[in-house]
Amino acid sequence: MSTTTDTTTDTRGDDAAAAVTVAAATRGATPAVAATAPRGGNAAPPLLAVVVPCFDEEPVVRRTAARLCELLRRLTAAGKIDAASFVYFVDDGSRDETWAAIEELHRADAAVKGLKLARNTGTQNALLAGLLGVRDRSDCVVTIDADLQQDEGVIETFLEKFRAGAHIVYGVRNARSSDSAWKRATSSFFYNLMWLLGARIIKHHSEYRLVSRKAVEAISEYREYNLFLRGIFVDIGYRSEIVRFDVRRRDAGKSKHTPRKLAALALDGITSFSVVPLRLVTVSGALIFLFSCGMTLFYLYHKFRGNTPPGWAGTIIPIYFLGGVQIMFLGLVGEYVGKIYKEVKARPRFIRDEELF
Ligand code: UDP
Ligand code: MG
Repeated sequence: MSTTTDTTTDTRGDDAAAAVTVAAATRGATPAVAATAPRGGNAAPPLLAVVVPCFDEEPVVRRTAARLCELLRRLTAAGKIDAASFVYFVDDGSRDETWAAIEELHRADAAVKGLKLARNTGTQNALLAGLLGVRDRSDCVVTIDADLQQDEGVIETFLEKFRAGAHIVYGVRNARSSDSAWKRATSSFFYNLMWLLGARIIKHHSEYRLVSRKAVEAISEYREYNLFLRGIFVDIGYRSEIVRFDVRRRDAGKSKHTPRKLAALALDGITSFSVVPLRLVTVSGALIFLFSCGMTLFYLYHKFRGNTPPGWAGTIIPIYFLGGVQIMFLGLVGEYVGKIYKEVKARPRFIRDEELF
């Protein structure tokens, strides 16, 4: 490998070891600084890992490997990346011959590596497995879909931004002409809803991005079960850049992101970044409670004026009153659930950036 970061991180086996290594490094003199120093323009070219999640992608995986390996060769020849850069296919429990194809590709070209997951766990987890799998073996990682709908040519621009100091480079779709009107409308609705609910994500960015090793180390500190990567990378707060690219059509196989999977992803994204829906219960409960107080006074007034049938106020008032009280208290319980939820996720409260020692 090629960079200064190797000095402190190669010994990391598991998370506990990582903590010890970092702690030891921060007590020492230069290694801690070297481990986090920004990359200078004259540093050696970075070792790039391209992580590709695959679920039933046998029809496309060979062509994808060929195109990505060709790209790596071109970038190596141009002195943009280290010669040991590689493609890392993550087989997300495919039911077809995807893994056999990956094995065959690996035998033919050592730049193709693979990881097989025990079962289908969804794109988010496959990506995370890939990122953590290459964490200690690369300087930066690009994640890209197996169907190469995203233009792999812009990886070169990603690398330029990375070498200029960005830790996260987001690929952002130009026009979404290759998607159906329905998909465009729903995804636009989703991005706007996320913003409204306070979850900061990059519009029209999916999982096509470059992240530095330091950013991957940061996400490995997020221990939550439902990891929503698009939100997490923004949450980390490292310097980021945006690069625009054109979307292509999927030319073989079919989309695995069924409407059901996309809806689940959207719901996960919202609920793992926002407790606003719970807060809404409290607020609406309080409003209904206020309204019920008003209605109670109104009905009591009519009762004493004598213009209600007997038993009427006794029926109506408790309905309004108890309804309001119940929803408000439900919201209050929700507030606590929200707090517990945040605690249970045990997100890191800060992310280390640099240290001068
Ligand atoms: N994918 C995965 N696990 C899944 C579903 C999808 O690893 O459970 C991968 C898939 O192989 C592809 C990427 O995620 O590399 C994007 O999926 P797809 O192209 O089917 O979705 P779309 O581009 O239509 O949103
Ligand atoms: Mg696709």
